[in-house]
Amino acid sequence: MNRISKMVVRMYVPAAAIAVGGFATAEAVTRTGRTLGEITPQRLASLAFLLAILLGTAWALHSTWRLYRWARGRELRCACGGMMSRVRYDRQRQKYRKCLACGGTSLEGAHCGG
Ligand SMILES: [Zn+2]
Repeated sequence: MNRISKMVVRMYVPAAAIAVGGFATAEAVTRTGRTLGEITPQRLASLAFLLAILLGTAWALHSTWRLYRWARGRELRCACGGMMSRVRYDRQRQKYRKCLACGGTSLEGAHCGG
């Protein structure tokens, strides 16, 4: 796999992790057999799973949206062609962006006086 494929995979991994986490939570809830007031464990498990699916889907949609923008050239690109992350702050409160493909960082506004 090249860097770009890895970057794409990495952007969708959290979505899959959330869904798997929801499934695990649902399993755990069903096994404890505890009721929460009127709510049965089965219903609680369904809700946990539904919530995880919704969150996972939202995450995947967000990733797709960013990849779409990146493919259209509307996102900042690293020298390697990868997508740059949103602005983050380091310990010195300096703005920087991290490349999602190669992991390289670049200081935000360091070369344009901002
Ligand atoms: Zn890069």
